[in-house]
Amino acid sequence: MKTITILIPAYNEEESLHLLYKRMTEVTAGLPEYDFELLFINDGSRDRTMPIIKELREEDVRVSYVDLSRNFGKETAMIAGFDHSKGDAVIILDADLQDPPELIPEMIKYWEQGYDDVYAKRRSRAGESWMKKTTARLFYKTLKKISQVPIQENTGDFRLLDRRCVEAIKQLRETQRYTKGMFSWVGYNKKEILFDRDPRISGETKWNYGKLFDLAVEGLTSFTTAPLRLSSLFGVGVSFLAFLFMIWIIIKTIAFGEPVAGYPSLMSVILFLGGIQLIVLGIIGEYLGRVFNETKKRPLYFVDEYNNQKVSNQPFNS
Ligand code: UDP
Ligand code: MG
Repeated sequence: MKTITILIPAYNEEESLHLLYKRMTEVTAGLPEYDFELLFINDGSRDRTMPIIKELREEDVRVSYVDLSRNFGKETAMIAGFDHSKGDAVIILDADLQDPPELIPEMIKYWEQGYDDVYAKRRSRAGESWMKKTTARLFYKTLKKISQVPIQENTGDFRLLDRRCVEAIKQLRETQRYTKGMFSWVGYNKKEILFDRDPRISGETKWNYGKLFDLAVEGLTSFTTAPLRLSSLFGVGVSFLAFLFMIWIIIKTIAFGEPVAGYPSLMSVILFLGGIQLIVLGIIGEYLGRVFNETKKRPLYFVDEYNNQKVSNQPFNS
């Protein structure tokens, strides 16, 4: 019998867990030919998320959990889940029920047909503001244009991954993770299915615009060095123009003389170039920061407890 791991990262999700479990059991009841592992990753929740997961585990042996030592963010929670998953396939599901578990049978159907990565694409984004939709669209458009990796638009982390995709992603141990790009980067056979994304069942999204901006920078800097290239090109362009300007000044001075003045042009050139230099330094800094973070080679996360056992050594953090 094949095992399927449902990977559920949860951060302060006390209100939705019971309903999520209920809907999951209904879905799994319709799929008796598979073993399920409901793997919750408690990402340092400060509410009753952990006790609720433990209660669920007492009632149902299929429930297991990884309790992280603090809040590491969803990206890290997911790699912790991959490291601990046992299934032949892993399905990533948000704890807030924005990803309908009812889609799982369809995902499994395509998996059985031989697809390795069945991802759910949003047809609509109910409950999300116009601003969020527009910024998301713009971001994907830019990222797609300048990075070499095709990134699926309007697709979250809700997807089924075959074991070999999971093993591939497990080898990507970078600390600043942009998992959505990694799914594309590792390749394998992909299949898209469409769904309507529901609004959150309760509570608030943990993403604010600041965090989304961070994620956007993450996505850009971890998948393309195009901004570096762009700044070099810009530098070449500006120097070329400056060179032409210099020749023009020399000729002008020789031909007509120079009655000094020129404060406005001097000032504008200095300010303009100063601005460009700061931007370019900032871009270099972004990449340097990433290099710095990766060279520290820290483990990605620490586990406090795994399935009722306190964890002291960290076998999964290679
Ligand atoms: N999540 C997490 N750690 C965090 C933030 C979120 O594990 O630091 C989980 C959260 O519990 C949920 C999923 O990631 O299951 C998606 O989070 P959220 O609903 O806030 O994001 P959105 O749906 O708005 O993209
Ligand atoms: Mg959500």
